[in-house]
Amino acid sequence: MKGSLLLQRSLFAIVSLLSHKDYICEKYNSIRRIRNTKCLIFAKFVLNLKTMDMKKLIHLAKKVSENAYAPYSKLKVGAAILTKTGKIFSGCNVENASYSLTICAERNALFSAVASGERDFVALALYSEDKMLPCGACLQVLSEFSDDMTIFVAWDGGVEEYRLSELLPKRFPL
Ligand SMILES: [Zn+2]
Repeated sequence: MKGSLLLQRSLFAIVSLLSHKDYICEKYNSIRRIRNTKCLIFAKFVLNLKTMDMKKLIHLAKKVSENAYAPYSKLKVGAAILTKTGKIFSGCNVENASYSLTICAERNALFSAVASGERDFVALALYSEDKMLPCGACLQVLSEFSDDMTIFVAWDGGVEEYRLSELLPKRFPL
């Protein structure tokens, strides 16, 4: 009976997953849905994917931060953004002697993705040596494409996970 019940639940979970068209791309939403089915096997599978993405994103954000052009602030920042199609784009901050022309790593990563035809995003990782949250300008620009992507804030001491909607509850609309 136990085996049969497990099989039944597994089949139910498979059907749930397959009926969710973009289940890989929308795995963060899937986690919540799968938790509702109480199928731990598949929840674990999806959670592992999430952990893998997070590590990869942070690794790339850290790597690209080495290319940051920050002669004025000395603050090197890197960002990596994950698209729904599974692609990753990265960017670093580029400062300018005319300070207001400086651009942040998050926007550089996003613009690079958009220039490649991507407009749907799942998560962004931000890395700097010391903990730093995205600025309001970057949050507004990210919110143009997603109301609720995951934001990983990583520094040499740890990682924190936020939702975009949490960091920017009310974006500027038109
Ligand atoms: Zn910014």
